[in-house]
Amino acid sequence: MLRNSCAVLLLWTVCSPLGRGESTKPNFVIIFADDQGYGDLGCFGSTTIRTPNIDRLAEEGRRFTNFMVASPVCTPSRAALLTGCYPKRIGMHQHVLFPASTRGLNPAEHTIADHLRSLGYATACFGKWHLGHHPETLPRQNGFDTYLGIPYSNDMNHPDNKGKPRIPSDDLWRDQSSAVTKWNTPLIENEMIVELPVDQRTVTRRYTDRAIDFIEQHKQESFFVYLPHSMPHIPLYVPEDAYDPDPANAYICVIEHIDAEVGRLMETIRRLNLSDNTYVIYTSDNGPWLQFKNHGGSAGPLREGKGTTFEGGQRVPCVMWGPGRIPAGTECSDVVATIDMLPTIAALTSSTLPTDQRIDGMDMSHKLLGTDGGSNRDEYLYYTSRGQIEGIRQGKWKLLARTNGRNRNRKNAQPASPAMHLFDLSTDVGEKKNLGQDHTDLVSRLNARMKELDAEITENARKAWFKNP
Ligand code: MG
Repeated sequence: MLRNSCAVLLLWTVCSPLGRGESTKPNFVIIFADDQGYGDLGCFGSTTIRTPNIDRLAEEGRRFTNFMVASPVCTPSRAALLTGCYPKRIGMHQHVLFPASTRGLNPAEHTIADHLRSLGYATACFGKWHLGHHPETLPRQNGFDTYLGIPYSNDMNHPDNKGKPRIPSDDLWRDQSSAVTKWNTPLIENEMIVELPVDQRTVTRRYTDRAIDFIEQHKQESFFVYLPHSMPHIPLYVPEDAYDPDPANAYICVIEHIDAEVGRLMETIRRLNLSDNTYVIYTSDNGPWLQFKNHGGSAGPLREGKGTTFEGGQRVPCVMWGPGRIPAGTECSDVVATIDMLPTIAALTSSTLPTDQRIDGMDMSHKLLGTDGGSNRDEYLYYTSRGQIEGIRQGKWKLLARTNGRNRNRKNAQPASPAMHLFDLSTDVGEKKNLGQDHTDLVSRLNARMKELDAEITENARKAWFKNP
């Protein structure tokens, strides 16, 4: 009898619809744009930027309209996505890394890539890392089998960040050859510099080429591709065939080029019949860099942008696609965050996370799948670009305890009493009306709760990697 049961089980495994045994675990592709605003996709209301390929992901998948990153700037936001933690919990909260920085993401952290690799996945990162450029902290030390990309932002110069233009300008956009003369940003393959400076015109396409090759190579296995595009972070560049010389259209050009490259990637997934077993997530690391005008994006209806704790800084456009699992053409307006991706992916792979490192993310797989049950994310914390606690969301309420003044984020700034801003995001997504005076008890309660949650994170914070500890 036992033998017969085994035979039946074996037959079921061989003949099951997926028929690939261990490789039936779903594939994951996370596309992480850099500084793309909430309003910079057709499916998020843009009337100036055409994004048919990402819009198609939304038509066939689900838009997340309250999707949050954990910092309004690059490095902490990326650390949070990969580890499921508020950046402060892992020592990655204090602004972005530079070419002279001596810290990075601690390889002891359990990243999405570490987790999926432990399940037998092939893992790859193609794009902007920005979690430490020293060999000890590059992607291959943080769970990825292979890496090609720039180690920090595309407006940073190897090795000391000197000698670069002060600001990107319309003139630079008009002269696309400046992509290889003005910015001394390296391209790294695994741990070696392979191009210095990198030709920034072609990076979006080359990252995509690598992602396509990787998927074709690993189509019989389960794979994870992390594709953090270095665009549309300034300075902006596109290949010749995607170029419009009018600087007024610079940002539009760049997003439409990213969209076209998303289209090429999706064509590969569809052609290889991987649609039914692949999740694709498209989102951005923080809000738009508004000061750069036509070189920066739009936060749509949200207030402000990159570098601030207003929604424009940390609420980003997000589309998730997984035909047959994620309901097509739907929207989720509940709060979901990048820190939720690690536990969500663990749930989608029926796997468990290590219990020895506390994280902040929650399993939000039910929000992707549109199924009942599961928890809501009732609270969310907002930290400044330099890692200071500044806000909390609880249900429809958002409290910002903002210390005003130019130097409020500087290390030696004089302490000042924070100005309390209370917004009802259910009726005021643009954070225009401060209701603090009408709800002083609520302000006090939220302020105390914000400090309580931050105190726990501070007390239990782990260390980043340091070159000279
Ligand atoms: Mg960014």
